[in-house]
Amino acid sequence: RSLLAPRMGQLRESPTAVVADLVRAMTAKGEHVINFGEGELDFETPEFIKQAGISAIEGGITRYTAVGGTIEVKKAVQTKFQRDNGLDFSLDQLIVGTGGKQLIFNAILATVSAGDEVIIPAPYWVSYPDIVRLAGGTPVIVPGEDRNGFKISPAALSKAITPATKWLVLNSPNNPTGALYSAQELDALLEVIADNPGILVMSDDIYEHIVYEGAFATPAAVRPDLADRILTVNGVSKAYSMTGWRIGFAGGPSWLISAMQVLQSQSTTNAAAMCQEATRAALVGPQDFMAERLERLRTRRDLVVAALNQTQGLRCDTPPGAFYVYVNCQALLGRKTADGAILESDTDVAKYLADDAKVGVVPGTAFGLSPYLRIAYGLDDRDLVEGCRRIRAACGRLN
Ligand code: PLP
Repeated sequence: RSLLAPRMGQLRESPTAVVADLVRAMTAKGEHVINFGEGELDFETPEFIKQAGISAIEGGITRYTAVGGTIEVKKAVQTKFQRDNGLDFSLDQLIVGTGGKQLIFNAILATVSAGDEVIIPAPYWVSYPDIVRLAGGTPVIVPGEDRNGFKISPAALSKAITPATKWLVLNSPNNPTGALYSAQELDALLEVIADNPGILVMSDDIYEHIVYEGAFATPAAVRPDLADRILTVNGVSKAYSMTGWRIGFAGGPSWLISAMQVLQSQSTTNAAAMCQEATRAALVGPQDFMAERLERLRTRRDLVVAALNQTQGLRCDTPPGAFYVYVNCQALLGRKTADGAILESDTDVAKYLADDAKVGVVPGTAFGLSPYLRIAYGLDDRDLVEGCRRIRAACGRLN
């Protein structure tokens, strides 16, 4: 009899973590590995936010709070949604939790059970399908089209819908492609949802503030008539460089928010009190540091895209958002390494780049669309240049 629960059979270790482990092992052996694998920027949390956290601790904000967040942080989230997105939520339509990930987890667990289907466009953030499976549901993967910036069409969405469909999960700007849906494109997808009552929409807006070209749009603002079926998830991890503080928030219909809160009350209770206070400061404080950081990211993006397109066998378009490039590596498949091994998949290519070039990338198979490599360019400029040089050299050595 296994001591592990059968549900563990539904989960895989995060495939991005597998590459991270490989990179860590090589680094521990003293090798200088350049890691394009991590979904994290090298920027520090801004000083005024750090100070708010420190003052909170010193001021005794070190105790349990209301499960769904303090009144103060929820008011700040309310202000953020009004200011940035034109969305009006009452406080009972808002929840604060331990990262956007926990809120997605709570929303799916609160609504999905055996027999339910969740439509997930591919390539997707690695956690969506596993969270759905953990809840007993079935992920229904709809592949985006490379030539359409990896976005799905209303026709493809329409075809994927069945009487068992519970959710459509949208993520724009997208991890792993940087794809951005315009307001019109969202409207066209939401028109399909309008025709199918009983389907919820989750909009994962975590990369909202990392947009280089085009305008960010969010479903609840594009289609207010559907707002009672839309959950908008966001957080401070990416926009405010606060991944380690673990704070996310969501706005949606109060019946769903209160179910998510019940789940949270039986798992983590509240997000850390001092981190809620730092988040309050982040959301209502000066936002101008973002513009300067965005320009630095844009320079990096352009550098990486140019270098990759000059590399034999790799091809990519310039992504309009987030800090990832999803590179087509089809032309490398079938090629031979110096020791005679044939590259048969994007996983083989990722392993080759790790072994031969000492560069960490994540194979597209992790995100449900192959053959691609995800390059996360949140690194300092020196590593970016050197990493691209190594990739180019390693691809040039293939036979
Ligand atoms: N959604 C997407 C698409 C992400 O890439 C991430 C983190 O990488 C998250 C959600 C979760 O972010 P957090 O839990 O740090 O708020």
